[in-house]
Amino acid sequence: MKASKIILLLAIAVLIAVFFIFDLHLYLSLDALKDQQAVIDSYRSEQPVLTVVIYMLVYVAVTGLSLPGATILTLAGGAIFGLLWGTVIVSFASTIGATLAFLAARFLFRDTVNSRFGARLKSINEGVGRDGAFYLFTLRLVPVIPFFIINLTMGLTALRVWTFFWVSQIGMLAGTIVYINAGTQLAKIDSLSGILSPALLGSFALLGIFPLLAKKIIETMKKVQVYKKWNKPKQFDNNLVVIGGGSGGLVTSYIAAAVKAKVTLIEKHKMGGDCLNTGCVPSKALIRTAKHLSYIKRSAEFGVKQPEVEFDFSEVMDRVHNVIKTVEPHDSVKRYTELGVDVVTAEAKIISPWEVEVKTDEGVKTITTRSIVIAAGARPFVPPIPGLDQVDPLTSDNVWNIRELPKRLLVLGGGPIGCELTQSFARLGSQVTQVEMLPRIMIREDPDVSEAVMARFKEEGVDIRVGHTAKEFIIENGEKIMIAEHEGQAVKIPFDEVLVAIGRAANVTGYGVEELGITLSPRKTIETNGFQETNYPNIYACGDVAGPYQFTHTAAHQAWYAAVNALFGQFKRFKTDYSVIPWSTFTDPEVARVGLNEQEAKEQNIPYEVVSYGIDDLDRAIADSEAHGFVKVLTQPGKDKILGVTIVGEHAGDLIAEFVLAMKHDLGLNKILGTIHIYPTMAEANKYVAGVWKKKNAPQGLLNWVGKYHAWRRG
Ligand SMILES: Cc1cc2nc3c(=O)[nH]c(=O)nc-3n(C[C@H](O)[C@H](O)[C@H](O)COP(=O)(O)OP(=O)(O)OC[C@H]3O[C@@H](n4cnc5c(N)ncnc54)[C@H](O)[C@@H]3O)c2cc1C
Repeated sequence: MKASKIILLLAIAVLIAVFFIFDLHLYLSLDALKDQQAVIDSYRSEQPVLTVVIYMLVYVAVTGLSLPGATILTLAGGAIFGLLWGTVIVSFASTIGATLAFLAARFLFRDTVNSRFGARLKSINEGVGRDGAFYLFTLRLVPVIPFFIINLTMGLTALRVWTFFWVSQIGMLAGTIVYINAGTQLAKIDSLSGILSPALLGSFALLGIFPLLAKKIIETMKKVQVYKKWNKPKQFDNNLVVIGGGSGGLVTSYIAAAVKAKVTLIEKHKMGGDCLNTGCVPSKALIRTAKHLSYIKRSAEFGVKQPEVEFDFSEVMDRVHNVIKTVEPHDSVKRYTELGVDVVTAEAKIISPWEVEVKTDEGVKTITTRSIVIAAGARPFVPPIPGLDQVDPLTSDNVWNIRELPKRLLVLGGGPIGCELTQSFARLGSQVTQVEMLPRIMIREDPDVSEAVMARFKEEGVDIRVGHTAKEFIIENGEKIMIAEHEGQAVKIPFDEVLVAIGRAANVTGYGVEELGITLSPRKTIETNGFQETNYPNIYACGDVAGPYQFTHTAAHQAWYAAVNALFGQFKRFKTDYSVIPWSTFTDPEVARVGLNEQEAKEQNIPYEVVSYGIDDLDRAIADSEAHGFVKVLTQPGKDKILGVTIVGEHAGDLIAEFVLAMKHDLGLNKILGTIHIYPTMAEANKYVAGVWKKKNAPQGLLNWVGKYHAWRRG
């Protein structure tokens, strides 16, 4: 714990101790108040301003320290200042005190609670972000939970301070007025219990529940409203129609067919979507050839004399297409038809919440369905940079069709796709310039990760230009040139081909999304709630079209929730679990991650400890001449609980699986250390990083005693 926290905690403890040791609570009783009323009144007549100041300070101290006595102080407020001023003064004093308690709880305990229960708290915090003000208002009016507990627990959530302040002030007002009013007739009060009659309590409860209830009613009405202008069919051809035969759509229809639902999958282009045809599969096939070439280049390192390399780029691309063809049957119409899915090759258009129109060679057909899952994917985003369209930019959609290796290739974008293709083309022999406007490539990863990848790229001859923003494309004397801005200067970069890889835009137009008014997120993806549901509760979305992740495995993950909620949501709905999401960038060195990295932990204010193991020390890596990279693990301070792992090195994408499993099932580093790993494998790096953690966290005091014990045993 930081010194500032310890000091605050001690100060609070001392003040609370003083309150009880000196019996100050005895002053905060009804009898004491009545006894002292005349004295207080005369002091107030002589020193009106000072009385307000002292009263407020006492009130703020009692509520800020969560001490008992706020009710008596409120009555006193009425007795001393009357109804109007009493209400104003108490309202501010109680809100300030409550906010101080809220802030103290946040400062002292939120980090600890976050790091311990971070993943589980995420959805609570999302709920607080959405409905926190309503819940707080209800809690303030329905006095089932003491106010001091509300102050402290709200401090542990992500509720904004200003929201807490104003909602508390409004929420506590009604109760404050009742007690202040009672206080104005202090002499007539014999006990605190009679002040709030059951009828008054009931009215408060109704008042408190009302906004929450109203919000729920509005939400339900909104859902009813979206369907108002549509006619619902009496019967349905299908239980489910799935739009898009990529990773998301395939898994959705697979699950639907497996549970015996009638499902139609509509794909307008190629089954398998981006992953099979223009994404993961061709890129990994190209990476493989590029890696093979890099080994040939490095053959002297392996004791083999430099061999001659001869290859034809078009044959490399033939191999890429052969790989696609070999994988194709996994995603084929035949396979899915055999699984029980009706597969239609056509463009789908949603024409009502229950009807999807398909245009095939046989004509236009409308399929009625109870639910729809949109899995229409995304496409490469090509920015409107002047002149770009004149230089025929390549993207991940069409780069697989080129037959000649570009001599000078300009890659725009330092994200995963840009990096994978940069290195592949450089290894194949292109002179590659990679341009990124941010200060480093792979910006989502920690700086040491970007450094490791950048160092390798530079070693392999890639010209990396970070901090360069593409401004214009021109053709000068027949030569294609990009003009970029770098530190306020215009920089000219000549090239033969440009590959644009600066992000992917969700496919949200042309198939009924606008016509139905399906809501989009600020990132222009289809907006879904935690259940993959759009603003039409029977229309779901998953994969790249919905985000927030754009990976094959996350599309498949969301697809399970979309399918199950669409088919069985009337019984039980499942919220998509994003607690453990891994990914990998297949550069050399490979970069894989699960959970937090250091920059995210810092941004989110999550305390962590970090241990790292250098793969340059690993026997297998040395034997393979791949002695580079690291395994970096973030853990909860003082615990072996894993918060996140980054691996840089050979097979990082495979090695990370052990940590994905560990995080998913809450297994700590001690469990990984206690597990046998085969010698000599790269996977041993996982065990060794756990060893580094163990050594760092060894109980030194105890070990000193054990050392003494052994010395004594030796005599
Ligand atoms: C170069 C590259 C490399 C990648 N590498 C990896 C990787 O290594 N690992 C990884 O996890 N991810 C990778 N990805 C990302 C991955 O490909 C996507 O996340 C994944 O394909 C998303 O699947 P999806 O089902 O959401 O969409 P898609 O695969 O895009 O499928 C959407 C389908 O919907 C169809 N469609 C759209 N509109 C209609 C309509 N109106 N009617 C009928 N059909 C329609 C489209 O034709 C398309 O086939 C890579 C992507 C690229 C571009």
